[in-house]
Amino acid sequence: MRMSDENGGTLPEGCEHVLERVYEFLDHELDEASGDAIRQHLVDCEPCLDRFDVEQAVKALVNRCCGNDLAPDHLRARVLSRLAQARQTPSA
Ligand SMILES: [Zn+2]
Repeated sequence: MRMSDENGGTLPEGCEHVLERVYEFLDHELDEASGDAIRQHLVDCEPCLDRFDVEQAVKALVNRCCGNDLAPDHLRARVLSRLAQARQTPSA
């Protein structure tokens, strides 16, 4: 299965691989070298960083719902505003 190209183009080489492993990265399930590679890719790749930011926020919210207190209020506010933006049509 491929990532959708909703931004009007395919993601650069390596992005799908990174995005597939973002959750492992967030869970600290990757070894140091793999984690560094993903972090470095996110630093260099704006599309991935954008996705990562949203996914990290969503994941943090999920953890919070499950009883862990990992999502600061500013992060929750940020993801909620992101989701609200995503639901809006860009040119009303
Ligand atoms: Zn990327």
